[in-house]
Amino acid sequence: MILHISQYGDPILRQFGEDVTGFDKNLAKLSEDMVETMHRAEGIGLAAQQIGKALRFCVVDIPQNPEHPMACILDGKPLNPDLLMPLALANPEIEELPSDEMVYEEGCLSFPEIRGDVVRADRVRVRFADLQGIEHSLECDGLLSRCIQHETDHLEGILYIDRMEPDILNEIKTDVKDLKRLTQKARKKELD
Ligand code: ZN
Repeated sequence: MILHISQYGDPILRQFGEDVTGFDKNLAKLSEDMVETMHRAEGIGLAAQQIGKALRFCVVDIPQNPEHPMACILDGKPLNPDLLMPLALANPEIEELPSDEMVYEEGCLSFPEIRGDVVRADRVRVRFADLQGIEHSLECDGLLSRCIQHETDHLEGILYIDRMEPDILNEIKTDVKDLKRLTQKARKKELD
């Protein structure tokens, strides 16, 4: 089922998510719907806040890039990230690993067509639970690491615009404000 994606200006995007506690068929269905919604929107990650739930849960789907292969070590064993995708993460906790900081132009499904550079650690370790509630540790770099950091931020109400340098934010400020105004107007209409 395709879900509605919350846009910037919707207060749900600023809510801190509750921990996932039920690893049941409802969570499996939520995950399936979020993956379907993400694919339809041509995104590579989607957080629960973006579909209107303040929950520590997100999905990602990042293909391996043969030109810039991503490292991926799950529970101590290297593996091809394609075998993990799409990946659902419940209650993810990120730890930055020693690595260079990388700049990359990020987008977000809650900010259509608005992109800007964000600096993040290249390499992270994320501890999370899978759909069965089994705990894992995943070490990764490149786009997978970046996407997991972006989605985990969402679960704490943090948005990529909060991570941008002032000069980058300045360039997209008008688009961001316009989007917020449009979203609030649409929400008011719905409530009236
Ligand atoms: Zn996002």
